[in-house]
Amino acid sequence: MQSRLPEYCDLYQLADKSATMSGYWPVAKMPRLLTMLAADGGEVKAELEFGRDGRIRFIKGIVSVDVEMQCQRCLDSTTVSLNTEFLLALVDNESQIGRLPEQYEALMTEGRHYLPDVIEDELILAVPIIATHDSDCSDYVKEFEAVPAEHQQEEAVKKPNPFAVLKDLL
Ligand SMILES: [Zn+2]
Repeated sequence: MQSRLPEYCDLYQLADKSATMSGYWPVAKMPRLLTMLAADGGEVKAELEFGRDGRIRFIKGIVSVDVEMQCQRCLDSTTVSLNTEFLLALVDNESQIGRLPEQYEALMTEGRHYLPDVIEDELILAVPIIATHDSDCSDYVKEFEAVPAEHQQEEAVKKPNPFAVLKDLL
């Protein structure tokens, strides 16, 4: 059974033990990611592998989540799948960053670290700059804008318009 990811962890210790973990984390508890989304539902799934490559301690991860973002074409909400993989080397000072083999990105940490932050940072990098529906929703926008304002409201509430009979009289 999947459990929630731990919060504070000693990343160096996990790397030294070659630990692996998989778990979930609620999107609602990722405040920086949330500012980019249209809704706070969803759970991030994460699979993490810690280890050592010579002197380098690393975290390898695969994370995925479906989030709701505002479509920039029709302004309605659309589901966006964020999937990302990462390989982070744990470093405790900036001078180490330049010496890392190129497959690694650096994660500055003294060891004890709020693990969901690592996942959140990676997801933020995976968020598309502009979200749109996969299907072409632009025709819908054109039609919608072409309808006079009083009829737009009628469509939006999807109820019979009590004044519809008046249209015939005009
Ligand atoms: Zn759209």
